Amino acid sequence: MSEKKLKIAVIGAGIIGCTSAVVLIESIPNVDLTIISEKFTPNTTGDGSGGLIYPYLPGSTDSKRIKKWINDTMAYLKQHFQSSDSGKLGIGLLSMYYLLEDREVFNYSDFDNVMISQRPMTSSELKQFSSPQKQWTKGVYVTTYYAECRKLLPYLLQQFKSKGGKVCQQRVDSVRQLIGKYDIVINCPGVEAGKCTADQSVHPIRGQVYRVSAPWIKHCVMAGNHYIIPNSDTVVLGGTKQLNNWNTNVDPIDSKDIMDGCSQLIPSVRTAQIVDEWVGLRPGRHEVRLEREVISDGQSHQLQVIHNYGHGGSGVTLSYGCAQEVLDYVQQIIASNNVKSRL
Ligand SMILES: Cc1cc2nc3c(=O)[nH]c(=O)nc-3n(C[C@H](O)[C@H](O)[C@H](O)COP(=O)(O)OP(=O)(O)OC[C@H]3O[C@@H](n4cnc5c(N)ncnc54)[C@H](O)[C@@H]3O)c2cc1C
Repeated sequence: MSEKKLKIAVIGAGIIGCTSAVVLIESIPNVDLTIISEKFTPNTTGDGSGGLIYPYLPGSTDSKRIKKWINDTMAYLKQHFQSSDSGKLGIGLLSMYYLLEDREVFNYSDFDNVMISQRPMTSSELKQFSSPQKQWTKGVYVTTYYAECRKLLPYLLQQFKSKGGKVCQQRVDSVRQLIGKYDIVINCPGVEAGKCTADQSVHPIRGQVYRVSAPWIKHCVMAGNHYIIPNSDTVVLGGTKQLNNWNTNVDPIDSKDIMDGCSQLIPSVRTAQIVDEWVGLRPGRHEVRLEREVISDGQSHQLQVIHNYGHGGSGVTLSYGCAQEVLDYVQQIIASNNVKSRL
């Protein structure tokens, strides 16, 4: 007699949901796995993001967890970087100049053994960005990766489907509606998490960016709210970090601020051809929510839920590490024979 398959649903097809789904389908035998999502690539938050692998606005999530997740993500990206497919997948090495105001404190130990390299910028590097109006006196030089979700997400979805994963385009109004239908739900709805769970602490951190064609820009530069992030074919210019702002329309005041701020760092961005202007809502939370919960319909049915949301401006950066932790939770559930929800 064939063993009953474990039924898992992943809510959300953003970088967090897709990475979780691929890790699970590659690791759990005899699983029936479905991604249920309202939107898919190219319409998720990651698709518009800069894809820089670096922690940004992760709330006050425990730094040990953040480091572990980044380390795991870096190891995953390294594997792909060293493959012949890295161009197709939108994965590459990236050097970054992170300019700091005099009052800004950078704690190097926060990033020990996390980034590929990290050191204070030299005075000649600082001079490259200084002008009579603005003299930069300190900054950090970092080597990391970028992972361009507009290329990576289609690959992840294709991997998922090729291994038997199913995809369903649908809105889930509440995780509770899946009780009795699945054994385990991985809840990855990004900024919408407050709507399908009872978690009121999720909020948008609005980010507006330009995507331009500027093949001469080879380095990432960050200073305050402004950043220039080269991807494989285009360069992302940002940005804003507006708390509790749900407006997904491009705001011309923000556009001007972004162009003014970025052109102070590299003046030639003004002449770059604009490919796109875009707004995305980072899933803000006081800390990333990656934990287990058991919900019940009050009768005989239980549902094991693993929440994986609230990654702020670091969703791409933390994606693979978080997916590994999701896998750990699923394996714990299986080991404890704790799947007795359906029918
Ligand atoms: C301007 C900007 C720049 C950024 N730059 C970077 C960067 O350089 N590096 C970095 O690491 N991060 C960056 N980020 C952050 C990063 O993009 C996010 O943290 C990440 O995309 C969040 O991924 P997610 O899968 O949780 O959410 P999303 O991509 O928003 O995906 C959520 C998915 O869930 C689905 N969904 C939601 N609710 C429901 C529901 N009720 N029923 C069914 N489906 C549902 C949605 O349709 C979607 O498919 C940036 C963000 C912005 C806005």
